[in-house]
Amino acid sequence: MTPSAATRVFALLGDPVEHSLSPRIHNAALRAAGLDGVYVALRCDADALPGLLRGLAGAGGAGNVTLPHKGRAAECVDRPSATVRRTGACNTFWAEEGRVCGDNTDVAGAAYAVAALLGGSPRGARVLLLGAGGAARAALCALLDGGVAEVVVRNRTSGRARELVGHCAGDDSRVRIDPDPARVPRDAFDLVVNATSLGLCPTDPPPLELDGARVGSVLDLVYARGGTAWVRDARARGLPAADGTEMLIAQAASAWERWWHRPAPIDAMRAAVEG
Ligand code: NAP
Repeated sequence: MTPSAATRVFALLGDPVEHSLSPRIHNAALRAAGLDGVYVALRCDADALPGLLRGLAGAGGAGNVTLPHKGRAAECVDRPSATVRRTGACNTFWAEEGRVCGDNTDVAGAAYAVAALLGGSPRGARVLLLGAGGAARAALCALLDGGVAEVVVRNRTSGRARELVGHCAGDDSRVRIDPDPARVPRDAFDLVVNATSLGLCPTDPPPLELDGARVGSVLDLVYARGGTAWVRDARARGLPAADGTEMLIAQAASAWERWWHRPAPIDAMRAAVEG
């Protein structure tokens, strides 16, 4: 569709944004649905973020927020969802009645990815969660909402793990922090989730050495064509394993539903990622 004065403008705001697949996913979805919109990626600093959010939403557009601005976005939307307040992070914004609304669709994305890997709900599972940043916040909320029996959080920086648990789990007795993240975990887990950024770079060490670890299934929130090295290693050991592609598609689909009030063309989104 040729852009016109009626075209809705969507943007991904973050730094960096060059390697994001979001423009590809959303423009493919717009084409598939025959809707008049365009999705671009804009690199911006924290000072520019509030003006861009407000300007885009005020002009009938909307968008996503990525690293490192999800926390700042949570503070500057007028109507943060309960999920934004719970996670302290906002990755999706739009306008309603002249107010900027914000949500965190990474939580729905993480829940979808866990269910897709396990073939259903994680109810009763014992989970090892690696990392304590924004992705870990989304994963922890999704796991607790999914009824897991236990989550052990492991992070390089222990203060950040405490912050994560304090903010997202409060005094939920199902969550504890691994006091020694450097050693191989002694306990057995049904699922291990990588929410660190390890794996983004080909020279990164694995987020968890699988030798000697007793884990059932492996979910990497980092994504890579053909699966990350850690996911390929897990599969070679016969473990069910998935990278973050399903989470990426599911968070995009949830954002789309906020903006267009209709189901997202998931097949077109998936084809855009895989194509
Ligand atoms: P973040 O807030 O910057 O957190 C990064 C995490 O990685 C922290 O826990 C950090 O530990 C840990 N880490 C970084 N370098 C490390 C190293 N060398 N050794 C051990 N731990 C290390 O980032 P985020 O927003 O949580 O994102 C994390 C990753 O999740 C991203 O890289 C992205 O690939 C993925 N993600 C995927 C989706 C999806 O849709 N699939 C969505 C969001 C994010 P410290 O606290 O000790 O620094």
